[in-house]
Amino acid sequence: MEDIVVKDLIKVYKTGKSEVIALRGLDCAIKGGTILAIMGPSGCGKTTFLNIIAGLDRPTAGSVKMGDENIVDYTDSELVTHRRDRVGIVFQFFNLVPTLTARENIELPMRLAKKDAKTLRTRADELLVLVGMGDRAKHKPDELSGGEQQRIGIATALANDPPLLLADEPTGELDSETGHEVLALFRKLRDEFGKTIVIVTHDQRIGQIADSIMTIVDGRITGEMSGEEFHQRSLEAVRSRSSPS
Ligand code: ADP
Ligand code: MG
Repeated sequence: MEDIVVKDLIKVYKTGKSEVIALRGLDCAIKGGTILAIMGPSGCGKTTFLNIIAGLDRPTAGSVKMGDENIVDYTDSELVTHRRDRVGIVFQFFNLVPTLTARENIELPMRLAKKDAKTLRTRADELLVLVGMGDRAKHKPDELSGGEQQRIGIATALANDPPLLLADEPTGELDSETGHEVLALFRKLRDEFGKTIVIVTHDQRIGQIADSIMTIVDGRITGEMSGEEFHQRSLEAVRSRSSPS
């Protein structure tokens, strides 16, 4: 997929007479086929940023270019197409439909995209196997562990084969081991399928899979480093904590 170039993104939320400035001129470039991690304190604008790239919300000003197109200029119906075909979203709380089975959840975005029954079935099977849930197709969300639900969440996000995956604290509700497996799954989606992946996270292990890590403070990018550099720094931090000399 082409790179995503974000320029001077501003988002002001107006509620009644008060205003909240969530993004204050955010600039960044996301290279196609890479994993970008976004870190930053609560309320700094991470979710706002993802929602705008996802086409779920519009910025107050600024541009988001994918190839030659600026999605900020899209009409409402162009945004619907953008959300359906180009973006898969992975949520912290999985966002599965509780009354549907794992398979039916994965099929849902394809139904909305009016895919035929055969495509639905083969694609759902393929995705269940891809996320390691081939034997859980008929389970409802409440019969699955958190890690399993997140795998189904990722399969659902992949249903229409979008080039871009956006994940908002996808390991926030998972134990350490399961969170690690979910991160490994994102790595596989980049390495084997060339997906572009943006992950908002507090998980220090993100350095093991991300190509780059950006920090947002107060609605702006304040720092960027490679995943490798971040990984080395977290190792050093662990070492200095365990040997205080
Ligand atoms: P983060 O995901 O980094 O915690 P958010 O993007 O959710 O931050 O929020 C950034 C700021 O915008 C916060 O001050 C938040 O309270 C505010 N905000 C987010 N969504 C809305 C909204 N729909 N209406 C008003 N204020 C909002
Ligand atoms: Mg958030």
